[in-house]
Amino acid sequence: MQEVDIQALDPARLMELIGPVRAQEFETAAVAARRLLDGRRVVNVNSTATGGGVAELLQTLLAYARGVGVDTRWHVIDGTSAFFDITKRIHNHLYGAPGDGGPLGPAEHVAYEEALRPNADELLSVVAPGDIVLLHDPQTAGLAARLREEGARVVWRCHVGCDETNEHTARGWEFLRPYLDDVEAFVFTRREFAPDWIDPALVHVITPSLDPFAAKNQALAPEEVRGILVYTGLVADGGREEPSTVFTRRDGSRGRVDRRVDVLQTGPPPPDDAPLLVQVSRWDRMKDMPGVMRAFADHVDRSHGAHLTLMGPSVHGVADDPEGGSVLDECVELWRSFPEAVRNRIHLACVPMHDPDEVAIITNALQRHAAVVAQKSLAEGFGLTVLEAMWKHRPVVASRVGGITDQIVDGRHGLLIDDPTDLEAFGAAVGSLLADPVLAARLGAAAYERAHAEFLGDRHLERYAALFLALE
Ligand code: UDP
Repeated sequence: MQEVDIQALDPARLMELIGPVRAQEFETAAVAARRLLDGRRVVNVNSTATGGGVAELLQTLLAYARGVGVDTRWHVIDGTSAFFDITKRIHNHLYGAPGDGGPLGPAEHVAYEEALRPNADELLSVVAPGDIVLLHDPQTAGLAARLREEGARVVWRCHVGCDETNEHTARGWEFLRPYLDDVEAFVFTRREFAPDWIDPALVHVITPSLDPFAAKNQALAPEEVRGILVYTGLVADGGREEPSTVFTRRDGSRGRVDRRVDVLQTGPPPPDDAPLLVQVSRWDRMKDMPGVMRAFADHVDRSHGAHLTLMGPSVHGVADDPEGGSVLDECVELWRSFPEAVRNRIHLACVPMHDPDEVAIITNALQRHAAVVAQKSLAEGFGLTVLEAMWKHRPVVASRVGGITDQIVDGRHGLLIDDPTDLEAFGAAVGSLLADPVLAARLGAAAYERAHAEFLGDRHLERYAALFLALE
């Protein structure tokens, strides 16, 4: 098990952004949480320190919690590849999908429990009775019983889910259910994600947030965006070399973008004046990267001169995601099957994950440069990438699934596609934004307002403070 370092972040700059009324509400919640916890720790446990929305959320949320005097910790469990195959299967099932179709029987229970046992041993050496332990996602559910036995207060935070149940969701929940008996409170992103056998009184709904000052979201001048994208090879230099760009890390120190992104493309990168459609996602089947490519190739009019960039982590970068390699392979195969004229306009980018702040600033620049941001997920817990684009005033085209529907009202803050498999509708929505910059700008502006009003860290932390009070 690995402990992730958390640097305290002073929430003062966030307070300036949200104004005095919200700042006062936040301060009240922070005082109540500090008094209640009285030195007890809030220990978070998940299965990866980089890549994906959970790692992204923990990085900033825990830092702000420390900044208001709450002793937060973050531990990342170790697992074997067999363990992560099982947990990925459960993850896909909770999204209503068959995943790899493999078994979830007694042998998988044994493998799951065996992989978690040494993690529980280590965790118990750092958790004291009365500490609150927030277990994130299916990978950690099996730790609950032993933690409770030792007197910890245990909350299970599930970031995934599906609005409707089916045979796959039933199978996923059947596997997890025995491990959740000892959990005292549950947190879901949407109430609809909670299975009906969980006592509704124990269910808390908490929506994620973003940090406007993190490298992922901090303001960048147009020349910085261009500098980062040209330097990393994500847009063409137009005959002008760009020096590497300096940026601010989450701990306030200066960083430098000095890594190139690994891009699969036939010719040069997209010209910097070509409208760019962007989807940033892990190489996960539920994100439907191939569907974005097909919709772009077949249903977005060429006359817009648009290019598509799909960006994901380099496939060795996300420890708990065993499917990444095969999904990327499928994308490459599909890309190779397109005629050259189409291939020239589609770019598949893999970012090395060694330095999370550097990944974040590159992603930030690409999102800011995008003419349209796509999130064509088949299912989605929340979809932090949608919020990140909204914060950057980008018009978004996304599927009407899961947590995305809590972020975007169709036609006001972006465009939603009713059927996530409808490539024609997706292509038409992208085309409508490429053809109408006024509409794109209006949706982008409304998106920013919504992100500011609903999805910043103050709201998120207040909901956790309310949860801790409810536990007493
Ligand atoms: N992300 C990134 N680089 C990548 C792919 C993803 O920085 O190449 C980040 C993305 O910006 C977002 C998170 O990973 O912050 C993905 O969160 P989301 O909720 O959209 O999906 P999840 O991966 O949790 O299913």
